[in-house]
Amino acid sequence: MRRTALLLAVLAPLALAADAPRAELVLRNGVIHTLDAKRPRATAVAIAGSRILAVGNEADVKGYVGPTTRVVDLAGATVIPGFTESHGHLMALGESRLSEDLTGTRSWPEIVAKLAVAAAAAKKGEWVLGRGWHESKWSEAPVPVVRGFQTHDALSAATPDNPVVLERADGHAVIVNAKVMELMSIDRDSRAPAGGEIIRDANGLPTGVLVDNAMDLVHAPPRSDAERERALDLALQECLRKGVTSFHDAGASSDDMALFKSYAQAHKLGPRLYVMVAGYDLLRRLDRPEVGLGDGFLTIRAVKLMADGAMGSRGAALLEPYDDDPKNSGFFTTPPETILAAARYGLEYGFQVNVHAIGDRANRMVLDQFERAFKEYPGVKDPRFRIEHAQILDAKEIPRFAKLGVFASMQGIHCTSDRPWAASRIGMARVKEGLYVWRKLFASGATIINGTDVPVEDVDPIKNFYASVTRRPESGEPAEGFDPDQRMTRREALNSYTLAAARGAFEEHERGSIEPGKLADLTVLTQDILSVPDSQLLKTQVLHTIVDGRIRYSKP
Ligand SMILES: [Zn+2]
Repeated sequence: MRRTALLLAVLAPLALAADAPRAELVLRNGVIHTLDAKRPRATAVAIAGSRILAVGNEADVKGYVGPTTRVVDLAGATVIPGFTESHGHLMALGESRLSEDLTGTRSWPEIVAKLAVAAAAAKKGEWVLGRGWHESKWSEAPVPVVRGFQTHDALSAATPDNPVVLERADGHAVIVNAKVMELMSIDRDSRAPAGGEIIRDANGLPTGVLVDNAMDLVHAPPRSDAERERALDLALQECLRKGVTSFHDAGASSDDMALFKSYAQAHKLGPRLYVMVAGYDLLRRLDRPEVGLGDGFLTIRAVKLMADGAMGSRGAALLEPYDDDPKNSGFFTTPPETILAAARYGLEYGFQVNVHAIGDRANRMVLDQFERAFKEYPGVKDPRFRIEHAQILDAKEIPRFAKLGVFASMQGIHCTSDRPWAASRIGMARVKEGLYVWRKLFASGATIINGTDVPVEDVDPIKNFYASVTRRPESGEPAEGFDPDQRMTRREALNSYTLAAARGAFEEHERGSIEPGKLADLTVLTQDILSVPDSQLLKTQVLHTIVDGRIRYSKP
């Protein structure tokens, strides 16, 4: 008996090798964080087709290696489930790469000089677009200044022949030049649409700054199909380069969806896309979700609504006024009735309803509408509605996320970007009490999923991971009130970017962890982001990005 048992033990791996499916790709000699509770750590993974075949140690995958298997020696590199960007704007990312990039500019004169060059290079009358300015990050205040913002005068003088539209980094305001105001008839008599504002000087003249829905007063000519494809290509490539294997698009137009579908059919997507359609009107044209188009690369299953504006441009709806604008408490950009109607529609037809809410008043309003709709549809289990941003929370709202099963879709890096000016907007008490309170949310049982709101921030997950686990800006100390006690742990941050993010798209059975049978979406990093010191985290680089079992990017 003994001898037979021994013999079987020796033969078993050979027998496996003879009948076992062959892996096309094997990664070995790595540090693998699986996020699978049954086997959290491994050193090797075998992949066949689009799926994971085996996870374990060298011996566990050896039997799957055949003559045509590509075996990659990771030499100690780290493998995690592919990063999921839970809230970004894919077309805007691509288009930002086609227009003047103003991120990192340090003053209004610098921007004006840049646009003077761009306009001189353009044909007369051609529209010149830019994005990424942020007056709070400038080294000097603009002159003149109205309500904290620059005015169009210097820009208009430097660009007399071209319409110029420059979008603020958060996408919640633009500044336009005189040419645009002339073409769009924006003048002293113009009125802002509801949920928007035309900033005016002491004489009642528009300064060129248009906030939230007032941005709709400007219609730049649409991009050509070729330009849009170029933008999408650039966005997809940038995501892969930065290790993103899945992307939740927070507000696609019908044109965007048509383009995404054509890319899915042509197998040109990667990362995978999980689409929120933009607004209730567009949602109402859909009668059922579309899951896994293009061999699992495209899912259209959610809607994105906007409850309020942003904190930077003082459009976030607050329970109490802004500290630096005492007559202003922000505003709703979508009425509560519409949010309720969309919630009902989502529950009726199986769509996830995801609502942008930044201010505490907006968060309360949205949770109220969700709660009401959930009560009307007790048969719908686990609808996983989301609040996008959830930045400023009153203590009363914090436990409601877990209680209602609403996901908090937050952006770790917004916390550190907002630090220089958040306290001036809402005061230190509100900053400490309710701004980006991740620990309080976790303690209440809430699920947080993570993203960058790209192009508001860099889509780079490493920068966002660093902000999430340190609450420190890339350089320097955290600002007062940004309590380090509210940091995420490394594991929480990784989970928020992988398995929890997959749950936020109903995809945890297919992705989000490294387990046999799941889709092989993996990111390979130069070092272990769960164990290197804080000071080393930002040095982490992406070695490989694997989507659907195929290596789509490798560090050159
Ligand atoms: Zn967004």
